[in-house]
Amino acid sequence: MLPFTMELLSALFPYAYLCAMVDENVMGLVDKGQMLPLMEEFYTIQGEGYHKGTAAYFIRVGGCDVGCHWCDVKESWNAETHPPTGIDSIIENAAKYSDTIVVTGGEPLTWDMGPLTAGLKQRNLQTHIETSGAYPLTGIWDWICLSPKKNKLPVGDIHKAAHELKVIVYNKHDLIFAEEQAAKVSENCVLYLQPEWSVREKVVPLIVDYVMKHPKWKVSLQTHKYLNIP
Ligand code: SF4
Repeated sequence: MLPFTMELLSALFPYAYLCAMVDENVMGLVDKGQMLPLMEEFYTIQGEGYHKGTAAYFIRVGGCDVGCHWCDVKESWNAETHPPTGIDSIIENAAKYSDTIVVTGGEPLTWDMGPLTAGLKQRNLQTHIETSGAYPLTGIWDWICLSPKKNKLPVGDIHKAAHELKVIVYNKHDLIFAEEQAAKVSENCVLYLQPEWSVREKVVPLIVDYVMKHPKWKVSLQTHKYLNIP
């Protein structure tokens, strides 16, 4: 039997061989963080947490296996449905719109954020991330918003690096989870409880009552949803 070499493959199936090579090359660049599965990018107002109300350019990267049942961006989960995009063009676009760049997902730490954030910093842009912390922290960040999830807990030392802890409250037990997570962050980390949108009417009174009794916490609302902007 003939050995199944790349040379033989290319002779028999030149087009398929080329596609496989391109795929392999693209996957290599995604692995290195030189390309990212880009779901969408847009200029808007940060609606949540510490920087709410501030104009920022959002880069939404596809890929997440955390699996929150209430997730409002489930279409981000499958990275394969989002085109691998060179970080140079992402950085170029971002720099046109804002000094503040928010990288979100999906779970952006699924990917190596080093090259993207190095490029953004070269342009003197402020780099913010919204992450569950489910994967090791990569990248250079001016602001880390850690939003931990019970079903895939943060890894490594990200609690200590977080500037903001934002716990989504879907039910009463999430307040216990919030305290467990707050025990791990640094003293200066700003603490937020945010109602999960679909149950907001039920949990807002719980959160309001809790924050008044435990004023180290603040309320975060998804103001962009009230403003009807992305
Ligand atoms: S971590 Fe974020 S993107 Fe991933 S499932 Fe949960 S809410 Fe959705």
